Amino acid sequence: MALMTGEQYIESIRAVKPEVYMFGKKIENPVDDPILRPSLNSVRMTYDLAQDPQYKDLMTVKSPYTGEIVNRFTHIHQSTTDLRNKVKMQRLCGQKTAACFQRCVGMDAFNAEFSTTFEIDKKYGTKYHENFVNFMKYAQTNDLTVDGAMTDPKGDRGKAPHAQVDPDLYLHVVERRPDGVVVRGAKAHQTGIINSHEVIVMPTISMGPDDKDYAISFAVPINTPGIFMIVGRQSCDTRKTEGVTLDVGNPEFGGVEALTIFDNVFVPNDRIFLNGETEFAGMLVERFAGYHRQSYGGCKVGVGDVLIGAAAVIADYNGCPKASHVKDKLIEMMHLNETLYCCGIACSAEGYQTESGNYMIDLLLANVCKQNVTRFPYEIVRLAEDIAGGLMVTAPSEKDFRDPKLGKYIDKYLRGVNDVTTENRLKMLRLIENLCLGTAAVGYRTESMHGAGSPQAQRIMISRQGNLGYKKQLAKAIAHIEE
Ligand code: SF4
Ligand code: FE
Repeated sequence: MALMTGEQYIESIRAVKPEVYMFGKKIENPVDDPILRPSLNSVRMTYDLAQDPQYKDLMTVKSPYTGEIVNRFTHIHQSTTDLRNKVKMQRLCGQKTAACFQRCVGMDAFNAEFSTTFEIDKKYGTKYHENFVNFMKYAQTNDLTVDGAMTDPKGDRGKAPHAQVDPDLYLHVVERRPDGVVVRGAKAHQTGIINSHEVIVMPTISMGPDDKDYAISFAVPINTPGIFMIVGRQSCDTRKTEGVTLDVGNPEFGGVEALTIFDNVFVPNDRIFLNGETEFAGMLVERFAGYHRQSYGGCKVGVGDVLIGAAAVIADYNGCPKASHVKDKLIEMMHLNETLYCCGIACSAEGYQTESGNYMIDLLLANVCKQNVTRFPYEIVRLAEDIAGGLMVTAPSEKDFRDPKLGKYIDKYLRGVNDVTTENRLKMLRLIENLCLGTAAVGYRTESMHGAGSPQAQRIMISRQGNLGYKKQLAKAIAHIEE
């Protein structure tokens, strides 16, 4: 099958019928739900852009495994150019959605699984790489969206998976059968899982010999019996149900996370990529997290571009684009945003070929990238709020603006420069509110902190990869110290 159009993607998700719950109810039709639909539209953009001749080289690539043109979101990176193009594609998607477009987790899981399964097979003579390559080719050929599920709930953070009071706090094998395994557990804050066809499950931390049942990785369709999702609340989410668009800020796009339960889910043997080889759990985690930390040097930069643009537009609308402090704040925002992009490009350019043949990013630089992402978007948000002014959080609702009595007063008193309508000024303020505080802030601000691992996770990797011993030697050599 060729690439799917956006519309075909939407209809394909409609056919999946995942089991989704929100606000205490089962959502029978998630595709048309007003709260959930914007997040589906964001993933749809990864299909629409792939159809656009202008973005063909960035969004699509010839797969060496199927010989066909595939969406880059299903691609196995063949070079450092591929790694850089991945980041550029993510920046583009961020620019076009101003939200989390979700499909990256599958791409990052693909590339981590590709190399890790190869190395497990080399040591143990298992068939995980073949299993994974078959699954990857199936996803490429059918242009699927695949979720990558890593984060277990973790319970007592001071205890290993097997030592938890409740054994299900890390997803684990509860039954071994000749034809496969049965697993139980949960994966928390799963980006885009309700908009995916399949899910790749991976362990969440390095494991010891006692965690054998927890060292499990596999892929299953989202609608496999026993899998269900509880959608996470976002601030301002019910604005999407009010039948107005102005108050939403970004009426078309969004992102959604869900707590995903695996309640005795059967996994057939040919979909298993790791099963008990505990020493490889850490490798899979490190590689997936590394790729996803690279990803943030693309997607968050794209969303940042929209926020910087919005801040510049509101400065125009407020009548102060020439104020030197406003100009300087916009320069600072661009400087911070491009610094993140530099990190995404640098860890890609410094990538290397793994034993399996695909390309891995430079882990140290990818972790530095994500560490900066835990900070700079906060400063970019602060500056955007500074430029926007307090009206971004005090403006009356769209219903008041449309009210026959009140509307004319709102129109009169909330106007900025005379040649811009009050409505456009409010639209821009609501977009800034959405990105800084509303539903998109989940995917821009707070996800910048915790997505792809919280800041401390990167600091641990930086301490491991930073080669402090070598730096000490350098200092001693320069100072002529011999010990
Ligand atoms: Fe992709 Fe960024 Fe969303 Fe992760 S946070 S899925 S990298 S858009
Ligand atoms: Fe994320």
